[in-house]
Amino acid sequence: MANYRFDHCSPVSDNTESGSRTLAQRVYDTLREEIVDGALQPGGRLVRRELSKRLGVSPMPVTEALLRLENEGLVESRPLHGSRVSLLTIDQLRNDEVLREAIESQAARLCAEHVADVGLGKLLSKAKLADRMMSQGDSNSKLGMQTHLEFHLEIANCTGYSRLGEELQRLWLRRLMRLNWLKATHYRKPPSDWHEQVVNVIAQGDPQAADAKMREHIRFGTEHDQLALNEFLDQKVVAGGKTA
Ligand SMILES: [Zn+2]
Repeated sequence: MANYRFDHCSPVSDNTESGSRTLAQRVYDTLREEIVDGALQPGGRLVRRELSKRLGVSPMPVTEALLRLENEGLVESRPLHGSRVSLLTIDQLRNDEVLREAIESQAARLCAEHVADVGLGKLLSKAKLADRMMSQGDSNSKLGMQTHLEFHLEIANCTGYSRLGEELQRLWLRRLMRLNWLKATHYRKPPSDWHEQVVNVIAQGDPQAADAKMREHIRFGTEHDQLALNEFLDQKVVAGGKTA
């Protein structure tokens, strides 16, 4: 599974298809980055003809890319209305959070069960990097979010179950999209060794303790995210009269 990268894919049509990625893949990468980074706003219309023109490609790879993005929950299509960037909703947030907790706690449990096979050194260095970015206040920067995501994906990848990492990545893409729109006004600062603590518990090889530690980790920011999303939605109602 390819980890999420904030690759900059400028103009899609510049490259031939001789590279490893197909044209549809490049369109997908470009649109996904624009959605996750907040260049395309929630609810924004995605018109195939306009996207084809802007990206310099035929409608076919755009259609293919939009279908993949819809499958990942970043785009939604409605009959007679076409496609749009998915709206941010409390229901989506609550569902994503409960799924994330289930996947990440299980991943930590599995890592602790097979701790001898886990690359603890690599995990620890990613944890320290994520902690350093957070303590420097860089956790919401592009690099900070990528570093944070890579730590959590590394745990999923250590389990040996590739689907865990794939599903987690989908959840994280939607999470990163949300974080770009939400203000950090309710943010509680975590301990400076917040991710290192998780690795240390996994290293003890106690599955139950690892599960509980990761659950605590995931739940730490849940309340903040819901408050911030409520504020975002309230502001949209005030500013626009009604949300889209
Ligand atoms: Zn974390």
